[in-house]
Amino acid sequence: MTSEANQCEQIFDCTRCGDCCRGFGGTYLSEKDIDAISAYVSIERDAFIEKFCVPSGSRRVIRQRPDGYCVFWNQLCTIHPVKPRMCRQWPFLESVLVDGINWQSMASMCPGVRKDAAIDRVRDCIKAYIAAEPDSSSKSESDDRHEDVQ
Ligand code: SF4
Ligand code: SF4
Repeated sequence: MTSEANQCEQIFDCTRCGDCCRGFGGTYLSEKDIDAISAYVSIERDAFIEKFCVPSGSRRVIRQRPDGYCVFWNQLCTIHPVKPRMCRQWPFLESVLVDGINWQSMASMCPGVRKDAAIDRVRDCIKAYIAAEPDSSSKSESDDRHEDVQ
């Protein structure tokens, strides 16, 4: 593990509380996400969309259960190896590069986020994430998910 990854773990360490898998207006799915998750759960793509997705504007989000949780939550993420990009990226969102106060907003809703993290370190982690997953810099789906983080 790189020292950079260690530094990022020091400012975010998921407690697996599941709070982010409930509500928040839904988890957007890219076409790549749909391909990967449908293959992972061994369901044909169209059937997967029918069963596990709901439309949200021009895009799709993962269906939620009546209790508000993502249908793939069961004490942990049951599709962890292929979970959507927006789930992987949290909380290292581009919106924090725009305004550091967004880190504090996320810390207030996610117990894994260190409130007292130095903002320069947070920004370095976000940049490292974007460098590792170049797709993530083109469109802030993660930001859309947490609409109250502006
Ligand atoms: S709210 Fe934060 S700590 Fe809880 S499961 Fe989600 S990312 Fe992890
Ligand atoms: S895909 Fe996994 S991490 Fe993302 S909201 Fe659903 S259960 Fe949570």
